[in-house]
Amino acid sequence: MFLGHYGVAFAARRVAPRTSLGTTVFAAQFLDEIWPILLLAGVERVRIVPGLMAASPMDFVSYPISHSLLTAALWALLIGAVYAAVRRYGRGAWVAGLAVLSHWLLDAPMHRPDLPLWPGSHTLVGLGLWNSVPVTMLLELGLFTLGLAWYARGTRPRDRVGRWGLWAMVAVLIGIFLSGLQGAPPPNERAVAVMALGLWLFVPWAAWVDRHREPAMRAEPAPVPSAPRDGATTPASPSLPSPPPRSPASPRR
Ligand SMILES: [Zn+2]
Repeated sequence: MFLGHYGVAFAARRVAPRTSLGTTVFAAQFLDEIWPILLLAGVERVRIVPGLMAASPMDFVSYPISHSLLTAALWALLIGAVYAAVRRYGRGAWVAGLAVLSHWLLDAPMHRPDLPLWPGSHTLVGLGLWNSVPVTMLLELGLFTLGLAWYARGTRPRDRVGRWGLWAMVAVLIGIFLSGLQGAPPPNERAVAVMALGLWLFVPWAAWVDRHREPAMRAEPAPVPSAPRDGATTPASPSLPSPPPRSPASPRR
């Protein structure tokens, strides 16, 4: 799974509102973030087999450290514990840990039976839904859209970064997903690893966007009905989402 993990990250940020979207993206995609490092180190292995599955040409030969259920649970514990120690926010620690574990649980329906229960386990898990492009699109886009919509409804942009930074990230993620479905398979295994390292970029990107958004609803008293419309001298009322101000003397001629 790819996009669905970001859907989880968006939703996790709603569940733990004091946790950054950067943290939840880091956690929900953690297994795929360490995977290319382990590939480049020669610890894990992948092969490109064009046509292997309708929605993925990847033959995950061996990935016991990044993608076994046991190690996923251990990574989840580690990240939850580190988060708790650093941030002292229990809910955020639970959410970060569960987001790490959710990655394995969401990969399991998509992958062929290649996900081990523990390193060395001969029991390999996977339902193989990547064999169907329509099912893949439905699940990936569905999960992504649900999480994103929940996040976007609960927060609102403070400025252009909060608005356009978010939609640019969404566009790039969907672009990566669609090009993976439609495009030619990667030229070689090393290219797969190097491209997968790019997933790390979404961690600071998500954190940056999130810092430029704020809760959509504030516990404010009811708005004053006849507030002066002179925006230059009064502080903007933060309680209602309003369209961007457009002055009549707009220089659009
Ligand atoms: Zn994965």
